[in-house]
Amino acid sequence: MNYQELIKCLAPAYGLGEARAIANMVMDECFGLTQTDLLLGKDTTLSSDQRKDFEKIAARLIAGEPVQYVLGYTHFCGHRFLVSPSVLIPRPETEELVAAAVAFAEGRGSSICALDLCTGSGCIAVSLALALPEARIIGVDISSDALGVAKQNADNLQACNVGFFRNDILDGSFKPDGSVNLIVSNPPYVMQSEAEKMSAHVLDHEPHLALFVPDDDPLRFYRAIADIGHRSLSPEGAILVEINSALAGPISQLFKDKGYVDVSVKADQFGRPRILQCTMPHA
Ligand code: GLN
Repeated sequence: MNYQELIKCLAPAYGLGEARAIANMVMDECFGLTQTDLLLGKDTTLSSDQRKDFEKIAARLIAGEPVQYVLGYTHFCGHRFLVSPSVLIPRPETEELVAAAVAFAEGRGSSICALDLCTGSGCIAVSLALALPEARIIGVDISSDALGVAKQNADNLQACNVGFFRNDILDGSFKPDGSVNLIVSNPPYVMQSEAEKMSAHVLDHEPHLALFVPDDDPLRFYRAIADIGHRSLSPEGAILVEINSALAGPISQLFKDKGYVDVSVKADQFGRPRILQCTMPHA
């Protein structure tokens, strides 16, 4: 197995462009070979140990494991985050959620105290903490394994203004310690019935706990977030959540029905409704 063969093997599952991107990422991250090196055929100069490592990595990729789990990390908001199969792989759309939260914080003037509900790898919480050094961020998740990854990310990236704790936000027990002025979240929002359209490398490897909601109650996390907002958000505080583009209407209505104002939805880079923002009214 060599670099060109790996691309050929990955192409049926990923398409040629993505297959090439994955193979290039491996060659660069694991063996320090740039695209120019590859064009010059330098992949043939790997040592025998490197060749053995390449074979192992290639076998995992061909078996369908996402490259981020194989490498053990990914890049998000300009930082390198550890990922494991107990956390969702951060998506580029979610960087837009972080950008919207930073824009809210910068427009606000006073310092930010934020909750990141369903924090997973901590990519949102830690990126916010690093972008807003005066802010205090609290990440919450039901999964102890995910929280382990999130804490490790905060440590590695030296984000000291972020803390994490375990809670199931659906059980109503969440008791915020004082008030916050921002809640961010990328909760599970894929409906079980949408699973058939998803690719095997997502379905077979990423945590279903972080992805799926039942078809008969797909808004359950947004309802919990809206209620936590009522218990913890200061007047004019904001909620910023990533949403399932197919559910933009019902999710917007839910936040309006719960008394939030200025409910708006922004599209992601693919033009799909993705980031919902709303505000707790003035007291
Ligand atoms: N955006 C993710 C996906 O498409 C889902 C994220 C989520 O459920 N919060 O797989």
